[in-house]
Amino acid sequence: MDVLRSRRVIIAGAGIAGLTAALAFAKRGFSVDVYERSEKLEEVGAGLQLSPNATRILDRLGVLEFLLPKAVRPHGVILRDARTLSELARVPLGDTAERRWHAPYLVAHRADLQGALLEAVGRQSSIKLATGSALTGFAREEQGIAVTFDRPSAADRAAGLLLVGADGVWSATRGLIGAGNQSSFSGEIAWRTVINAESEIGRALARIGAHENVTAFLHSGFHLIAYPVRGGAAFNLVAFTPGQRIAEGWSDKTNIAPLERALRHTAPMLAGLARNAGPWTAWPIHTVRQPTPWAAPGIALVGDAAHAMTPFAAQGAAMAIEDADTLAAFVDAGSDDLASALTAWEKTRRPRVEKVARRGAFNHFAWQAWGPVALARNLVLKTMPPEKLAADLDWLYGWESAAS
Ligand SMILES: Cc1cc2nc3c(=O)[nH]c(=O)nc-3n(C[C@H](O)[C@H](O)[C@H](O)COP(=O)(O)OP(=O)(O)OC[C@H]3O[C@@H](n4cnc5c(N)ncnc54)[C@H](O)[C@@H]3O)c2cc1C
Repeated sequence: MDVLRSRRVIIAGAGIAGLTAALAFAKRGFSVDVYERSEKLEEVGAGLQLSPNATRILDRLGVLEFLLPKAVRPHGVILRDARTLSELARVPLGDTAERRWHAPYLVAHRADLQGALLEAVGRQSSIKLATGSALTGFAREEQGIAVTFDRPSAADRAAGLLLVGADGVWSATRGLIGAGNQSSFSGEIAWRTVINAESEIGRALARIGAHENVTAFLHSGFHLIAYPVRGGAAFNLVAFTPGQRIAEGWSDKTNIAPLERALRHTAPMLAGLARNAGPWTAWPIHTVRQPTPWAAPGIALVGDAAHAMTPFAAQGAAMAIEDADTLAAFVDAGSDDLASALTAWEKTRRPRVEKVARRGAFNHFAWQAWGPVALARNLVLKTMPPEKLAADLDWLYGWESAAS
């Protein structure tokens, strides 16, 4: 294979996974072409928690310096009973997290992370980014792979060593490796809004410390997460209820009745949120059923394209970031035998990603528990010292890639 082609990677999708992959490959000396379907890269408005396993990589890739001025470092994760607002448990973050896991725990607006990734990408002359370009076809050739993209002006063809499918939960690349492009609806809806910290509700949240923490309000069949974004000027609120499959993506045309019902028996401060904190947008949570193959000759899937999971461990983006960085490390170390490198990468990643997805399922079960299970949960949480709760997360937040 010619040298130029053997060091060229094509990425479909410029979300968190795609842009991180671009930086990780560029750092290792690859040329990278990123093709993004949307004309304009604007991340619709939800917030993100970024745990130390992700921020450690973002730091190494030169992204953190652009993100830090806009992100908030919460003091802790606080679990509260949504009916009484009483504190059930606390995981210390802030300086404690940084000492323990050697990287910060941050909360940020997605647009700010996207902006920071783009700033870092803009500094790399070896990365080219084309928007308005949707992946349409793929072929294996003697000399590597060739990919076609549909652009408004003309169709484009790119050739290289590897296609990285970073095209999200409704991935077209997943279809190319025979993994099927179907995702399944989890039965849960995420409801999101951003409110001004100076609003009446913003001030009420600050009175219980929500302006400096990630606060999870737990209730039977429902939970709500609140945390500060935009340097503390706003709160991101995201609530989870059972619901019907609606549009693919965030929708602001949804009937908020399920959210109102879910909030009905919560504390007065929360009960009026459906009407008073909107407008709410709704997102039907889709997952990718496993085991779906994540790699085939000349192709690898990263992030939601490979393994979209429920967001109850707040780890989907973190897994996308880990995938991207480890993939680049495996391909760099094994580019003379790419097929083996991809197999080894998938074998290393799968147990971790599946363990994280199981933690999300457990959180969902525990946080939305009913009756006696909820009572037992509260009793157990009350006896857990914060240090023990933090230690329980060492495997997740303290993770370091052996390959990087
Ligand atoms: C309510 C909610 C809360 C969450 N909270 C957290 C959290 O706190 N922390 C966390 O770590 N994770 C969280 N997640 C998960 C996280 O948002 C996702 O895992 C992450 O955004 C996945 O990134 P991605 O780059 O893989 O996919 P995406 O962000 O979906 O990016 C895919 C990109 O590919 C493009 N694309 C699609 N098709 C094509 C094509 N054919 N050709 C070219 N480009 C294409 C799309 O336009 C898009 O830009 C949350 C998710 C939800 C729903």
